[in-house]
Parts: sequence; C-alpha cells; structure tokens
Amino acid sequence: MKRREFVGGVFVGGAAWGATAGSFARQNSPPRELSGSAGAEEVVIERPLAGQPHSGKVLAAIQPHADDIPFFAGGTVAKLVSEGYWGCLIRSSNDEKAGDGTVGETILNNEKDNDAVAKALGLSKVVNLEYRNHEMDGISRQEMRERLIYLIRLLKIDTVISYDPWGSYEENPDHYVTAQIVESACWMAGMAKDYPEHFAGGLQPHSVREKYYFARGPQLVNRVVDIAPWIDRKVEANLANKTQGPAGENGARLRARLAAQKLRLPILGNDDDTSNHQYIKQFVLDYDSKHLRGVPSDREIGRKYGLEWAEAFHYIGPSESMLDHYVSEHALPL
Ligand SMILES: [Zn+2]
Repeated sequence: MKRREFVGGVFVGGAAWGATAGSFARQNSPPRELSGSAGAEEVVIERPLAGQPHSGKVLAAIQPHADDIPFFAGGTVAKLVSEGYWGCLIRSSNDEKAGDGTVGETILNNEKDNDAVAKALGLSKVVNLEYRNHEMDGISRQEMRERLIYLIRLLKIDTVISYDPWGSYEENPDHYVTAQIVESACWMAGMAKDYPEHFAGGLQPHSVREKYYFARGPQLVNRVVDIAPWIDRKVEANLANKTQGPAGENGARLRARLAAQKLRLPILGNDDDTSNHQYIKQFVLDYDSKHLRGVPSDREIGRKYGLEWAEAFHYIGPSESMLDHYVSEHALPL
C-alpha cells in the first residue's frame, strides 16, 4: 500500500465519520441514519467464538500488496483461522515498486515478506498472481476474474476478505481493480455456464457465501470485529512487511535515530524486537494510524463499541430464502 495523506473514514450504521482527531469525538454520538435500506443496516459486533465453529470452511484473504491484509484485516484473518477456517493468501500484484534495491530484489523481498505474512496469520497456502505493481488498471480484468473463479472452485472458497469494491476515494488502481474483480468472481464462480472447461477438468460451480470488505476511504460499515485476542498476531503480520510500508522494522530505526540524538522513547523499550513490536502496536495501529495507514486507529474503532481493539468491514453474507420458510410453515399434503 502506498502511504497517503488521507482523511480516512467509515460509514457506520449509515453514519459517516472522518479520521481526524476531532472526528473521534463524533464517534461517541449515536450513528445518524441515512435514507435507504443500506443506512438502516445494524452494525453487528463479531465477538470471539469458542471452539472451532468454522471447521471445514475455507477462507481466502485477497490483497494486491503484501501489506494490505496485515494493515486492515490482520486481526480478523487471525481470528477466523483460530476459529477453524483453513485459509489461503492470494496476492494479485508483484509489489515491484515498493521497497529499496533493484526491481528484481524488490519483487523477491516482497515475495518473502508475503510468505511471512501468511505464516504469521496462520494461512496455509499462498498464491501470487504477479500482475505488475501500480499497473493493474491496464490488465485484462476478465483474465484475472477467470483465475480467481478457478481458485474459488478449486479450493472451494467460502469466505473472502479483501478491499471494498465500493470504497470511496481510493487512489491506488491495484486496490480498486482487485476489489472489483473479486466481487464479480465471487458470484460468477457459482454459475454453471461460465468457463465450462473447469467442469471438464472435474471442478464444480462454487459461490463465495461471505465477504468482509475493508476500505481506506468512506465506507458503509455493518460489521465490527473484536480483534483484541489477536492484536499481537496482527502486529506480527505487520512486522513481516520489512520491505515496504510503515511497519516492519521501523521501530528499531526510530530508536536508533533517537539514540544518535541522545534521546529515547520509553514506550519503545530497550531492544530492537520490543521497539518494532511497540512501534507497530502503539503508532501504526493506534496513535499515528491516520497518517501511517490512512484509516482510524483500531483502538478508536473498538472504543465506540466497548472493545479494546477492532476492525471495521462492510460484510455481505448469504441471503436467506423467505420462500423456503413460507413453504416449510404453510405447505399442506395434497
Ligand atoms: Zn496496497
């Protein structure tokens, strides 16, 4: 993800807020309802679940760049995996523009970081689609859609976490192109006439049933996930991104820079590991979140709902057939 100056915000329960410091005070006010069905949606708090309720289900965390899922959904991915999901990490770009060194070195370093992200979050498989970084608005969307449909059918993906295709003010083409393709692939994978060669090869139509979408800009939020038990796993995933972004080993760099000036920050501790961990947890995910990630602090999002740490999503779940209910309650023997 390219860092940006951005007044990030979310719509919650139909109410919009920005990510400026002053705006956090508004988060304590009751959400303002917007007209229309979307604004009437309730915000569901998804809390930790006991046991392995998601056992047998398949999760795909789909990100354009190695740092997107760790930034915006690392806690939720770790939560769902710990609750029983088998998970894979799909990265759509090759991250060739993000990091120091030559282009070749940058690609390799980010590939290694991405593998480490998957490991930190408990994801069992990594698939890199390798579209050129920053240039995804020039790709064949149909080609990438078919690749995703193949993966959805092959892995029998039930749930995806990715960028919101309706997120506003997103400047990075890799983000919005990936989001739009994910959205279309999720339903099209369940159709019986798209890409029949897949069926000739033994695959079956398979729809994605649940979607968690995150965004850097204003977004309709109808689900807030309690990630408090997994906040340190989220920190570990962000620590894995050593090549690009504001997380990685920047805590140790800050500590060294301050030491050269004969200064120290007690919050960073007395060694590099503590500095890196604390820098991510306290600054990237909280105190300087708007500047470093372009979104409100995870702690601030949680505070509104009485949670310690939280991530916000536009969640789309399976629709329930009222006809089936009606038939089961009213059908009579002939
Ligand atoms: Zn990104």
